[in-house]
Amino acid sequence: MTDWEALLAFDRRHVWHPYAALPAVLPPLPVVGAEGVRLRLADGRELVDGMSSWWSAIHGYRHPVLDEAVRAQLGRMAHVMFGGLTHEPGVLLAQRLVELAPAGLDRVFFADSGSVAVEVAIKMALQYQLALGRPLRRRLLTVRGGYHGDTFGAMAVCDPVGGMHSMFAGALIEHLFAPRPPDGFAAELDEGWARGVGDLVARHAHELAAVIVEPIVQGAGGMRFHSPACVALLRRLCDEHGLLLVLDEIATGFGRTGEYFACEHAAVSPDVMCVGKALTGGYMSLAATLCTPAVAEAISSGQGGALMHGPTFMANPLACAVALASLDLLQREGWREQVARIELGLRRGLAPARDLPGVADVRVLGGIGVVQLDHEVDVGAVTVAAVECGVWLRPFRDLIYTMPPYVIGDEDLARVAGAVVEGIGVA
Ligand SMILES: *Cc1c(COP(=O)(O)O)cnc(C)c1O
Repeated sequence: MTDWEALLAFDRRHVWHPYAALPAVLPPLPVVGAEGVRLRLADGRELVDGMSSWWSAIHGYRHPVLDEAVRAQLGRMAHVMFGGLTHEPGVLLAQRLVELAPAGLDRVFFADSGSVAVEVAIKMALQYQLALGRPLRRRLLTVRGGYHGDTFGAMAVCDPVGGMHSMFAGALIEHLFAPRPPDGFAAELDEGWARGVGDLVARHAHELAAVIVEPIVQGAGGMRFHSPACVALLRRLCDEHGLLLVLDEIATGFGRTGEYFACEHAAVSPDVMCVGKALTGGYMSLAATLCTPAVAEAISSGQGGALMHGPTFMANPLACAVALASLDLLQREGWREQVARIELGLRRGLAPARDLPGVADVRVLGGIGVVQLDHEVDVGAVTVAAVECGVWLRPFRDLIYTMPPYVIGDEDLARVAGAVVEGIGVA
């Protein structure tokens, strides 16, 4: 028998959890297993997963097809270095990503996490401009409210307030921040915003290498949705001024917003695109940075003659094998219908939240449901209330939100939405 009391005591004193103090303020819940959309706790309780383990477990847990893909690859090799060597799962996954990606993105760099994929994208932009003889183009333009990861390069393009740049003042590159795109997926292009961003790009083009944004949905920066017209505008500005457009699809990719990639809402192809999170169906950490031939060719013929990055676990075969299986499953299970059904269920299930005191906004897009409050959430209280409803939620800041696995059934979905609504009362 596992002595959970002892394990939790050690965890509390010695183990960091994401964005946590040590010892932790709130004790984590011990999970002993997970299957389908359910997490099983050490005390036997089962929770319906409303978070997909942060956007990643889109097919749920212990999926037989994904389990088998890992097992089969394990029988061949768990890992081998990618420098000077290659392997079938890596090449096949690259092929598949090229087929699925927006037009023009047919060169693939495998990274080991989303943050690293963003670092690689930034390096691509800088090396590209250098190769084109524009060494002064060293800064990026992004919008406020963004989130691109926790490493230093990625952190520097996160929202300067939400990303707590003040804590790392002097250690972060100072990039250029345009105002947040105006709210509303269905909104028309806001002329004022467009003019502001256009002026900013024009004034600074000589020192800008790229624009980097999350298309359509800003995730960990505030769970906000903006119009495809904003993304299309950024594409035009990049073309006019010789900048690369880098789209971070790490959260939005693989169907979550209702299109396979969120940039398809805007019919825009970026020059560089980052994917991660759901890529392996939540089985392990893998990400990729895709780019156009023009970017790859410039970098490869420029100074150094190579892209200056190469993680130890690049293109890990286990991760590539399970990613391939996950992308197959997405197709086979009909992700578009799954996500459309979740969207409908979330709209219905979250509608009662609109009339509750303390609620500032309720929004749904694809498989994402968000309740924004007019105050900071009491994370502990909401977690307890959700657990009492038999649901796992992880609110942050002023947000109680959900992005359930695509395989969730209608009853479980109603339960998740019910738990969000229930949480408002104690938030
Ligand atoms: C999660 C996330 C990242 C960082 O990915 P990690 O795998 O956590 O390093 C980057 N960009 C976006 C949009 C994300 O949601």
